[in-house]
Amino acid sequence: MGKDEPARGSGGEQIRRREADLAEPGVRWDYAPARESREIVRLRERYDLFVGGRWLEPKTERTFTTIDPATEEPLAEVAEAGEEDVDLAVRAAAEAWEARWRDLPGRERAKYLYRIARALQERSREFAVLETLNNGKPIKESRDVDVPLAAAHFFYYAGWADKLEYAFPGRRPRPLGVAAQITPWNFPLLMCAWKLAPALATGNTAVLKPASTTPLTALLLAEVIQEADLPPGVVNVITGPGGRTGGWLAAHPAVAKVAFTGSTEIGKVLRRSLAGSGKRLTLELGGKAANIIFEDAPIDQAIEGIVNGIFFNQGEVCCAGSRLFVQESVAELVIAKLKARLSTLRVGDPLDKNTDIGAINNRAQLAKIQELVRSGIEEGAEIYQPECELPERGFWFRPTLFTNVAMSHRIAREEIFGPVLSILTFRTPEEAVEKANNTEYGLSAGIWTEKGSRILWMAERMKAGVVWANTFNRFDPSSPFGGYKESGFGREGGRHGLEPYLDLDGGAA
Ligand code: NAP
Repeated sequence: MGKDEPARGSGGEQIRRREADLAEPGVRWDYAPARESREIVRLRERYDLFVGGRWLEPKTERTFTTIDPATEEPLAEVAEAGEEDVDLAVRAAAEAWEARWRDLPGRERAKYLYRIARALQERSREFAVLETLNNGKPIKESRDVDVPLAAAHFFYYAGWADKLEYAFPGRRPRPLGVAAQITPWNFPLLMCAWKLAPALATGNTAVLKPASTTPLTALLLAEVIQEADLPPGVVNVITGPGGRTGGWLAAHPAVAKVAFTGSTEIGKVLRRSLAGSGKRLTLELGGKAANIIFEDAPIDQAIEGIVNGIFFNQGEVCCAGSRLFVQESVAELVIAKLKARLSTLRVGDPLDKNTDIGAINNRAQLAKIQELVRSGIEEGAEIYQPECELPERGFWFRPTLFTNVAMSHRIAREEIFGPVLSILTFRTPEEAVEKANNTEYGLSAGIWTEKGSRILWMAERMKAGVVWANTFNRFDPSSPFGGYKESGFGREGGRHGLEPYLDLDGGAA
């Protein structure tokens, strides 16, 4: 498929198909107008650094190419920030903090947050298409989840900006200064909102570095921030390779707080390098969540929850329900239903509104998924993949189930970060808890049962930051999110999400 060709016929053909579908009761097709969707995005050929309220060419004079993972077509050239650029950005943030932002009343900061939230809503279609183009996720997810949730975070934290003393009674909450914020590629815009909204609401300024494979929605957000007239330097967005740009940013002496979301491996690197620096650090890292289904669960509802739990965003979700524990008595039934449901999932063009599973974000991630799936087969697990045609170009992986999985298998222990579900069984609630907690991670878990008392009993015992009951992957800005063990520390979201950006000790009553 060429870069500018529509994914499914011309606009006229789509309308004719829609008309034909309407004539056929019971069939509901809603073809995405791929060509029009693309056109809503006005890509620049080259994106500079957003520093001090202006777009600056990098001192390095270097750029890198960002692509569409569904086609491997280049989308734009993006600036590579060097050490001098990082320094400029941090200094711009520090000056903005000293000169204005730290003393601005909360209700004034809130106004800017509301403006950003509304601009996200007004330009939601553009953000959704750009997110899908750069990340590979289905348009229905970027449209219905990523963008509205990002706006919701700005709305939610705008509400806290002038009520911080009520959030921490008896204490005197004060901002820290410059926050360095480093985000991953799986929810590029949403992660910016998770980081920026609480930082700005609490009176901090920020330098944000998005992941190199998905910088475009962070840069569009910078455009929105410029239009919202935020004082220059309050938000700066710089791009470049993690090991260099990200490393310099985190280590900069004028940075008071580092907020990182990404892999456990890099989280550990940062933790080591910042030890003794006096900087505050929060880490949102990997996961290997358990979805636990009891024999009394509402099975059909649970099947949908399990499918959503692992195939939402191609499974590239830190809290993905990648291990399914099924009570032995219903294992056969659940596996049969899951296989049937898998064969109805539509894999392909992420801009098509009917697509359930889009492209894997990058080649390295695809190789990692392939390697772990191979290990599953070699270690003796049984693989199931439905028949489906995959596009020739781009990074694709079929939805995959593994049965006959042992707790010692790599696919039961390591984060795959792809559309791969490992199914294990249990007999008693005690065994389910023991197995589910037998992981180095502790980010989330799901419990499916009709028994309220069992939900409470299980939730008390699960070592996971979030425990969902009879649902999965439910997010709300008012709920704190974060991990135990190798999944990191600190919470984002809710009142808890304010705390990492505040000095509360000075004013302790
Ligand atoms: P990653 O490789 O750790 O990268 C995350 C971010 O850190 C990127 O912006 C990256 O820049 C940057 N980075 C890389 N090396 C760095 C270094 N030495 N110093 C400072 N920054 C550095 O993770 P990813 O592959 O983007 O994301 C996938 C991982 O994120 C998964 O493990 C997933 O579970 C985790 N995740 C966790 C949560 C959560 O809330 N717990 C949410 C989403 C994702 P480059 O892109 O330039 O390398």
